[in-house]
Amino acid sequence: MESRSRRALIRRLGPRGSDGVPDCLLAPRRVVNPEASCMIVSSQLFEAYLECSTKCWLRSRVEPATGNVYAEWARPQNETYLEYGLKRLLATLPESDRAITPPIPKNPKDVTWCLAIDVRWRINDLESCLQAVERIPSEGRGRPAQFIPYRFEFANKLSKEHKLLLAFDANLLSEAVGREVNLGKIVHGDSHATLKVKTPTLASEVRKRIKEITALLAGNSPPDLVLNRHCGQCEFQTRCSTQAREKDELSLLSGLSEKDRKRLHNKGIFTVTQLSYTFRPRRRRRESRGKQEKHHHSLRARAIRENKIHAVGILDPKLEGTPVFLDVEGLPDLDLYYLIGIRVQSAEGSVQHSFWADDAKEEKLIWNDFLGVLSEITNPHLVHYGSYETTFLKRMCERHGPPPAGSQVATAVNRATNLLSFIYAQIYFPTYSNGLK
Ligand code: SF4
Repeated sequence: MESRSRRALIRRLGPRGSDGVPDCLLAPRRVVNPEASCMIVSSQLFEAYLECSTKCWLRSRVEPATGNVYAEWARPQNETYLEYGLKRLLATLPESDRAITPPIPKNPKDVTWCLAIDVRWRINDLESCLQAVERIPSEGRGRPAQFIPYRFEFANKLSKEHKLLLAFDANLLSEAVGREVNLGKIVHGDSHATLKVKTPTLASEVRKRIKEITALLAGNSPPDLVLNRHCGQCEFQTRCSTQAREKDELSLLSGLSEKDRKRLHNKGIFTVTQLSYTFRPRRRRRESRGKQEKHHHSLRARAIRENKIHAVGILDPKLEGTPVFLDVEGLPDLDLYYLIGIRVQSAEGSVQHSFWADDAKEEKLIWNDFLGVLSEITNPHLVHYGSYETTFLKRMCERHGPPPAGSQVATAVNRATNLLSFIYAQIYFPTYSNGLK
């Protein structure tokens, strides 16, 4: 349900889309006429391109989103965050110093506002809806007023893509006011921290990306479909995964790098089925017998084609002592681990322990509780699936202190076994990835 303050802000922010929400609060904002606007590089297209060239192309052609739980969750989060951030910013200045959707100034010296929001400007082939722009008045002769673009991002951890998007706005702002924009600000995270970004350091990369996008949009066909890490958060996930399966695309195989894919393309291999016929079992040389087996994408492809599990060699993880199966959950954006789960086999059956943390302060408590339970097990041997737990054990020792040196708990933490490191090169399931989710 919309709050009264949200409705009031929406009324003040003026022009809005068919759902009643102002365009500036919408992310992404759609290009209305793809024919007329296909050469316009908007901040929405720039943002999409940083994630995936196919996403950029689909947005430019106003393709309908096909649904993604994360994308549907993130959109209102960003809208609410932006709305609250603008409200806070507006409250710092009297009404006479504010502007909503101001036009491009003919002369920057004529600008009277100190803060403008929903700044929709199009210069040449670039278009952006700058969320907010601050003007720092001139401090005397020869010292012109400065313009600072703002972005609001609900994530706590910022990536290079967030900074590049701000630099895109700075580039457009600089063209509009005819002077260099040296600084931009990103307000982000739960604490509404402000990160200052020196935008000129990113200007050449922004220009390079704009050129690439212009070339992409000028074409009549979409770029080659390549599934990637962003797919799990993308509004086109269903469309692309369906197409990739229909085409039997090589990028369905997780872990196949771009370099490997290009190498296979050069050999005329374009599908998982084609790849599946290239696996040739080889006898290992004597000198490499003690070494870890390498992963064969062709054998995974064969496992998928035959719908069979294939094994290379004998799996021997050498588990000594009492196996303690470990699983950890966390929030990467907050750098917080909130759940440690272990399962131990005993004579009476399996016993499970779950340690929950509500916030960062409780993380240390659950780490100590976990170590305490480990110390009561005879010769514990930690077993986990994937590198997430390896990183967890290392980080917790650094952050909250390792177990006492020489103790059986210290030994357990130091010699934990990652089952996936054995499975990865030796067991091939008929699945595109070894992920559990
Ligand atoms: S689902 Fe993946 S491949 Fe498709 S547009 Fe999104 S990120 Fe790109």
